[in-house]
Amino acid sequence: MIVKNVIKTPIATNSSVQTAVSTPIETPTTSSPKMDTEKNTANKSSTHFPSKVSIVEVGARDGLQNEKAILTAKDKISLINLLSECGLKRIEAGAFVSPKWVPQMANSDEVFMGINRAKDVIYSALTPNIKGFENAIASKVDEVAIFGSASESFSQKNINCSINKSLKRFEPVIAAAKLQNIPVRGYVSCVMGCPYEGKIDSKSVTFVAKTLLEMGCYEISLGDTIGAGTPDATKRLLDDVCLDVPVTDLAVHFHDTYGQALVNIYTALHYGVATIDSAVAGLGGCPYAKGASGNVASEDVLYMLNGLGIETGISMDKLLLATKFISNVLDRQPVSKVANALLANSK
Ligand SMILES: [Zn+2]
Repeated sequence: MIVKNVIKTPIATNSSVQTAVSTPIETPTTSSPKMDTEKNTANKSSTHFPSKVSIVEVGARDGLQNEKAILTAKDKISLINLLSECGLKRIEAGAFVSPKWVPQMANSDEVFMGINRAKDVIYSALTPNIKGFENAIASKVDEVAIFGSASESFSQKNINCSINKSLKRFEPVIAAAKLQNIPVRGYVSCVMGCPYEGKIDSKSVTFVAKTLLEMGCYEISLGDTIGAGTPDATKRLLDDVCLDVPVTDLAVHFHDTYGQALVNIYTALHYGVATIDSAVAGLGGCPYAKGASGNVASEDVLYMLNGLGIETGISMDKLLLATKFISNVLDRQPVSKVANALLANSK
């Protein structure tokens, strides 16, 4: 693969940076070739962190969808209300999918109709087809999300059709959303690995991301569904994707299976990615991806962003109330080091 040993510039702003620099990625950080590479490419991976980051809280959807326990609408509503009070501006609150397919999301309509809507919070839902979209609209969803896989095998196993066909299926959803002025977010799954295919070519990720944008999505969330990514893989992925997709249209979505999510997010911040998906208490996993653990915990992401002086508008104390609540409902410790440390200190 060409991309494997080549660092490319994310966004070529002048001719001097358009040449790909063929320095091996694996060069130790202390060696001079790597230093030169970083200077010459002048890519976004220097020290230009975004001053503000928007966290998309996906615990109530991606998280709970992949938990064994099926929560009552009442518990979900309480969780979402607590999340609404901590300063989060974007909350993915459910999915309008067949209850046969995802029983955990069967009560999404009840949830959307029961939550206290904070004025400046966007409540979104996953809507894989037009029926789901119509149900979502009936439940007053503010924003919808669709998804495509960067892995052909994952697409086949997950939704029984090819990547191309799966993207086509979303056309009516996007058309209907446009008519009603509902923003559509696009997810790309398996961006750094697939349980069936292993490594995924970043060209495939770029293709799906670009296609979803061209179809009408306003933002693309790059999902490391199985949590296999490392900082170098994140770098290679963003080097490639950013050639075709503006970084301002990108979000990152990491699962923490191998404990790499935070450092991958840190890497993405260097590129200027300013939208991060995370789940309170590190909820979730993926029933289709063996061994995949939950989303990166919102508490861990917030702690890191606070430490970097990046503004989020989120109160950790209030977020921890949501952490405590959901951990009690699920009767287990949060999968967040930060939450466990802070909750232990507050006892
Ligand atoms: Zn996910």
